[in-house]
Amino acid sequence: MRLRNVPGSREVIAENEYVVHDEKTKKGNWALVFGNDHPIHVEIGMGKGSFLMEMARLHPEINYLGIEKYSSVLLRAIEKHEEAPELTNLMFIRMDAEEIEDVFAPGEIAYIYLNFSDPWPKDRHAKRRLTSDRFLGRYERLLAEGGGVTFKTDNVDLFDFSVESAEACGWERLAISRDLHSSPYAEGNVMTEYERKFSGLGNKICMLKIRPGR
Ligand code: SAM
Repeated sequence: MRLRNVPGSREVIAENEYVVHDEKTKKGNWALVFGNDHPIHVEIGMGKGSFLMEMARLHPEINYLGIEKYSSVLLRAIEKHEEAPELTNLMFIRMDAEEIEDVFAPGEIAYIYLNFSDPWPKDRHAKRRLTSDRFLGRYERLLAEGGGVTFKTDNVDLFDFSVESAEACGWERLAISRDLHSSPYAEGNVMTEYERKFSGLGNKICMLKIRPGR
């Protein structure tokens, strides 16, 4: 996944129609970007974007935005999107999630997906985890009424951390499974690239669905 230096990737992205440029100027105006006021669902750390491609196909009534930090990874998602130009409800942003509150206004996001987020295993990097209290606070401010977060991973330590973090932040737990594919939640589950890879290796997939306590 870490193809960080693919020559020319930044140039391709700068000109691509599926990438939102100057994303900070869109804050509060995402409905204009999509040309409709459908709910906006965001995957943070989308990687090559296969999960979002399938979600966008299944739910044309929802607008999907994929956030990815690295140009070289985003390039792979762009290549896939170019094969499915009919998916006008899917766009990408190259950005670091640390800046998410500069890009969306409070209440502008209807739902957030965190799939196989980077674990940042060292304690001193815990705040960088996308389920840390710092990030949950951001999501709480950005999520519309009734919105929530679904988190999937095969990393048990990160999952335990995330469950505790959500609880400490007063989020309500709507669903939890430490073996998603053998659980009732498997029905309708859309697999991500990492999910296919790690479940193929025999790892159990953990899933947590939460919403702000409010
Ligand atoms: N979600 C995909 C999946 O499940 O197949 C990709 C998972 S991959 C392990 C994590 C991805 O998140 C990488 O592409 C990484 O570059 C991206 N990422 C990690 N931290 C990020 C951040 N702070 N902002 C945006 N993207 C990030």
